Amino acid sequence: MFEPHDIKLLKKLKKRTLLDLALIAPTSYEDTTLSSQIEEGKTLTARAVVKGSRIFNGRLYVELFLSDFNRTATAIFFKTTPYHKQLFSIGSEHVISGRAGYFRGSLQISQPKSLKSYGEITPKYKTVLKQSEIRALIAKYVTKENLIKAALKPNEIEAVLKLHFPKSISEVKQDGEFKEEIIQALKSAEAFNHLYKMRKKRTFTPAIKPLNGSIEPFLKDLPFTLTQDQLNAIEDIKKDLSSTKKAAKRIIIGDVGSGKTMVILAAAMIAGKDKSVLMAPTSLLANQLFEEAQKFVSKHLKLALVTQKNSQGDYKEADFIIGTHALLYKDDLPKAALIMIDEQHRFGANQRAMLDAMLKQEGRGAHFLQFSATPIPRTQAMIESELIDISTIKMLPFKKQITTAIIGRSEFNKLLEHIKAEIAQNRQVLIVYPLVEPSSEVPYMSLLEAKKYWQKNFKNVYVTHGKDDEKDSVLLEFRDKGDILLATTVIEVGISLPRLTTIVIVGAERFGLATLHQLRGRVGRQGLESFCYLYTNAKTPPKRLQEFSNTLDGFKIAMLDLKYRNSGDLLDGTIQSGKAFKWLDLSEDEEIIKEAKERIKKFTFAAV
Ligand code: ADP
Ligand code: MG
Repeated sequence: MFEPHDIKLLKKLKKRTLLDLALIAPTSYEDTTLSSQIEEGKTLTARAVVKGSRIFNGRLYVELFLSDFNRTATAIFFKTTPYHKQLFSIGSEHVISGRAGYFRGSLQISQPKSLKSYGEITPKYKTVLKQSEIRALIAKYVTKENLIKAALKPNEIEAVLKLHFPKSISEVKQDGEFKEEIIQALKSAEAFNHLYKMRKKRTFTPAIKPLNGSIEPFLKDLPFTLTQDQLNAIEDIKKDLSSTKKAAKRIIIGDVGSGKTMVILAAAMIAGKDKSVLMAPTSLLANQLFEEAQKFVSKHLKLALVTQKNSQGDYKEADFIIGTHALLYKDDLPKAALIMIDEQHRFGANQRAMLDAMLKQEGRGAHFLQFSATPIPRTQAMIESELIDISTIKMLPFKKQITTAIIGRSEFNKLLEHIKAEIAQNRQVLIVYPLVEPSSEVPYMSLLEAKKYWQKNFKNVYVTHGKDDEKDSVLLEFRDKGDILLATTVIEVGISLPRLTTIVIVGAERFGLATLHQLRGRVGRQGLESFCYLYTNAKTPPKRLQEFSNTLDGFKIAMLDLKYRNSGDLLDGTIQSGKAFKWLDLSEDEEIIKEAKERIKKFTFAAV
């Protein structure tokens, strides 16, 4: 649809589709239409004839006759320049535009411009292109006809056309803001455009082979029954893997402790002798997954472990190979029909690229399943499901009993009592500090400063942090022998610590809700009554901490996180507040996205 020259301009704008272009918003409008009335404080645009002029106190006063209003007015220029005197010579005719006001009952216009042309509303855009270029581009392509072809609804088309070609400012704006009906229509158009692009991007690769191994032998021996959500996820996977037409591409999202490992093992059973590979972000996790596989599926599948330090079994012979990214560097790894990664958000772009290569096999693709412990907001899931299938696990096998409380310095003694009581019951405490070393910018104790205090007053205190090389062994030793663990957020993807019942997060307001949620997910994993203390020096703790305290549901917290991120209430500089959408707000526009999704399903792609 676009001409070659215009495609270059679109590239500069980083836009691809007609709707990308159509949804660019003017930052302001220049309005040179003649005013129909004179309003104090507003811009007046009117035809005028100069009747006289004088200089007084260094100012230039020009007497005007406004023919359309049949009255006189005085234009004031605060600096007298020869240019102005010349321009407004007696008898000259103008269309002036300036702010109208009254002084002792007479009409005054301050510093008016003399317009070269009038009768137009010109949108001003802030883009990399020149005003004339972007305006021409929009005028050429953003037409009613093209918008109809792009499958917009009538109200959306109307809003887009008003946005760029308003007949009056009041058509698009009210009190200086875009009108609500315009915004709603543009949100809807933006959602539709985004989903359309996502859907077009999704590619399907034929699968290497369909996988139909039985999971019954595995289920039969489990010491517990799977939750409905676990079963649903397994059902989704079963359907995916039984296809030859397309290789599975699915992400299974479930909070920490929701039992994703069981789903992983079930998938490995379905792959059976056609082989599966599971990659984990750390050797600790790989080892833990290997142990679970040994426990639950070793009767049915030949297992192997591949990490840098520790390997077990013969991976060339194994049905189910578990490892770290060390797997990516083995060139004699057997071809597997199913590839899975656990804790997918922990993998870097580099590793993903290597993984992509591993998935492809002569024009066909291995089935690919990803597992993530980072719940995403519903709205985001609705959007991303255009690119990848999503299963969510919301139920937890154990009902979590975690009491969350915001505390401050005055509650410190009570906290100590609580910690002592927990330790006396053979339970463990984790205290998370915002920093390893002291910093003048952070008004909290650092890990290293706090260490002295805890080691002096308590026994079995362990310390670790992200840059600690001994992290893994410290964690393992703490699991078995420790009472108190002092750490930074490293613990975020640590091992499971069944006796851990209390977590104290120092400087909680400094962390994003997603991080707090991950941290809190460390306690109460086995259903023991647990506690999460959000320690803050803030006199009035931020509202988001309060809301966080009221729910344990990761998907709800993801929504909250979004809401507070958009509203700018975020002290945690690590999370970018960059908004992906111009009009749409993922924290509140669920209905709009739902509607756009319905529409996109019916939309035939030949149309554009
Ligand atoms: P995730 O990987 O989702 O964080 P895990 O798979 O590690 O969670 O499971 C957490 C714990 O719950 C493990 O000890 C696991 O054996 C146990 N578990 C998993 N599913 C169930 C279930 N349906 N009933 C009881 N316990 C379960
Ligand atoms: Mg897991």
